Amino acid sequence: MRVNERIVIIGGGLSGLTLAYLLLKENIKTTILEASPRLGGRIHTIKGVIETPLELGATWFSDMHPNLLALIEELGLRKYPQFSKGISLFQTKSFEPPQKFFVPEAEMPSYRVVGGTQMLIDTLFQKLPQDTVFLNTRVTAVKEETNGIVLETTGGKAREADKVIVCIPPQLVARQIAFTPKLPDGINAVLPNVQTWMGGAIKFTLEYDTPFWRNEGYSGMLYSHAGIVTEVYDHTNFEKNKFGFTGFLNGAAASYTPDVRKEFVLRQLTELMGEKALKPTAYFDKIRTDEFILDGSQVIHRPHQNNGHPLLQESYLNGKLFFAATETATEYSGYMEGAVVAAQSIATRL
Ligand SMILES: Cc1cc2nc3c(=O)[nH]c(=O)nc-3n(C[C@H](O)[C@H](O)[C@H](O)COP(=O)(O)OP(=O)(O)OC[C@H]3O[C@@H](n4cnc5c(N)ncnc54)[C@H](O)[C@@H]3O)c2cc1C
Repeated sequence: MRVNERIVIIGGGLSGLTLAYLLLKENIKTTILEASPRLGGRIHTIKGVIETPLELGATWFSDMHPNLLALIEELGLRKYPQFSKGISLFQTKSFEPPQKFFVPEAEMPSYRVVGGTQMLIDTLFQKLPQDTVFLNTRVTAVKEETNGIVLETTGGKAREADKVIVCIPPQLVARQIAFTPKLPDGINAVLPNVQTWMGGAIKFTLEYDTPFWRNEGYSGMLYSHAGIVTEVYDHTNFEKNKFGFTGFLNGAAASYTPDVRKEFVLRQLTELMGEKALKPTAYFDKIRTDEFILDGSQVIHRPHQNNGHPLLQESYLNGKLFFAATETATEYSGYMEGAVVAAQSIATRL
């Protein structure tokens, strides 16, 4: 059986959902096909044991991101500045005490979304007709036929569309989607070489029932060249009644089991911040190499390599196929701002 839909969006991350929302405002209904069991892609807020919103994906933005800020406001969401007051730590060597420093108040602070970045995704989803979003639906092939496009998905159900907008990282397009007829050589050469922002990153979060570092004059900010943890930031919620850290682990940590990663993280933080760090209420981490972001690609690119490439701005299959993930944006590609810019750009063209 084939289902006919006018516009199909591949990918239910920020770019795909923003595009669907913008088009709906113009009375254009779309269908979103999302490979994973959840919406949000690289935005992923979870709740800790005591319900602290913890970010395993995108977290910060600033006044340099006007399109994202406008979307946040339009959706009725709120922002608050990242806490950075107090003593910060820089660990250069494992056998020397960390250096202490103060970060002056930023002229342009980093913000977080009140309630967690996932609020953006959940609110966009609530604005859409719920029966137009399909989870667990990976697109594997896009074929141009006389009357339009046919999409093949896992599960075997083919879908017809007049236009298709691909809102997944271009590198993933090259690995997962077969096009008939083949796309031109130029774009085929570019797709696998578009760096996917944060592909391979390992983000971790910790939840605590007290902000022991704040109580002792520390900002919670920590940088290290000497351990499994490379960056840490205070992760207290807007209401200041739930506490924790978020940060990044060294890429090599991917080869350890989750339990070993947790043990090494707690050991390093206890050395640097004292015994109270040893007893979190929750620890989570997420390695970004899975089929929803890199799909096992071992290729290492320069940060933002080929992001916003001119060939990603073109349409293909006789004007029926467009690309719109954050990596296609000509400004702030890779970031949430880029995802919104890419969606706006395609919405205007459609
Ligand atoms: C750890 C981490 C930290 C980050 N921190 C920040 C930050 O602090 N600030 C910031 O601005 N940005 C940050 N980012 C980047 C930010 O998350 C992205 O810019 C933004 O979320 C990208 O949205 P997108 O919709 O373009 O792509 P994605 O979020 O990657 O969405 C693509 C979606 O497509 C789905 N998909 C993949 N393949 C298929 C297929 N074949 N068929 C159907 N669906 C498919 C995926 O499952 C996914 O849901 C971070 C990213 C990560 C991973």
